[in-house]
Amino acid sequence: MLFPCIDQIEVKGKRLLIRVDYNVPLKDGVIGDDNRIRSGLETVRYALKNGASAIVCSHLGSPDGKPVPKMSLGPVAQRMSELLGQKVELAPDCVGPEVRSMAARLKPGQALLLENLRFHPEEQGKKPEQRGDFGKQLAELADIYVNDAFAVAHRNNASVVDAPKWSKKCCIGFLLKEEWEYLGENLAHPKRPYVAISGGSKVSTKLGIIRSLLPQVDDFIIGGAMANTFLLAQGHGVGRSLVEPDLVDTALDILHTAEEHKAKVHLPVDFVVGRGAEDKEPLGVFDADSIPAEGMMLDIGPKSVALFSAVLRPAATVIWNGPMGLFENPAFASGSLALCRAVADLEALTIVGGGDTVAVLHQTDLSSKFTFISTAGGAFLEFLEGRELPAFKALKECLNR
Ligand code: ADP
Ligand code: MG
Repeated sequence: MLFPCIDQIEVKGKRLLIRVDYNVPLKDGVIGDDNRIRSGLETVRYALKNGASAIVCSHLGSPDGKPVPKMSLGPVAQRMSELLGQKVELAPDCVGPEVRSMAARLKPGQALLLENLRFHPEEQGKKPEQRGDFGKQLAELADIYVNDAFAVAHRNNASVVDAPKWSKKCCIGFLLKEEWEYLGENLAHPKRPYVAISGGSKVSTKLGIIRSLLPQVDDFIIGGAMANTFLLAQGHGVGRSLVEPDLVDTALDILHTAEEHKAKVHLPVDFVVGRGAEDKEPLGVFDADSIPAEGMMLDIGPKSVALFSAVLRPAATVIWNGPMGLFENPAFASGSLALCRAVADLEALTIVGGGDTVAVLHQTDLSSKFTFISTAGGAFLEFLEGRELPAFKALKECLNR
């Protein structure tokens, strides 16, 4: 492990600034899915139990640097209180004299939640000068900075990259540690066969992850609208499907690179075709070489599901990002759901990430059958692209000081 975890350092009597991701869906002040709070609470609970005080900070929604009452973390403080069985006070802001004195008054075992970080434009300032001393002010509330927010690890936000810079000490929380262990360590030494599944709407957004995974995997399954560009590259007609014609050469290059690395690329062989995304009923199922000119390939067909399932069967490690079709419309969801079932049935180490891919999972009751579901979208992709995420760079700098 590259970074010390909260349970590896002395926290007794210390004030911890814990950056979490409690960006839960809120509607009329009511929390929809509170999973992010539940899973992120372990670190806070540990801190409180071990004689530290916890100053918890998070963003919620996109208030664009202004206080927006309906994006207040009030409901989150309340849910935290219920789950922890003790009062969690909500600070009226996240920096400033009042917050400083509230933080200073905290006793060991007490928790304070700071108001939405994104109420301040500095939090998301692109350049350091736009972020000013916001991160420093956050850091100065506490003795130790704890990062437990993998979902924003790829962002140059003040609470992610500046706060650790100004902290005397830093560590990571249990959630971040888990992400690091699965995505970093397990995938760095995968048991074989190692199969990657990629889908979603565009090759362009997945180029990085494809290029970084290709040399490592034994098999690469490609579905979703992404596959259309590959089929076009191979000379197939794709009707009116979503494609990126300017990426045809890139697709051919990817196929060529795969050959060099002895990774087998598997493309769909049949498709559920519709007239449009809103169709109640598909036009039908067509083989890859006979897509009707007026049709759109909106899901993979049953032969493809069977083919992909067969590729997956011997797998020991599977990483999946990107749905196989336009799953938001039930008429085009079967491919993604069938693939989800196929992966869930494996004995393999199975890792899933990406906002929409996790949404597919949640349409089923199979979540518990996966080894690890990443909480992050963008950070998950960038991490797997092999980039050093800003959060980790900042933590390293803090530790090396
Ligand atoms: P993730 O959020 O898991 O990384 P993406 O955002 O890359 O996944 O892709 C998900 C989107 O891709 C969904 O909105 C889905 O409808 C769309 N999609 C997948 N396959 C197709 C297709 N064949 N045609 C049109 N849209 C598709
Ligand atoms: Mg998405």
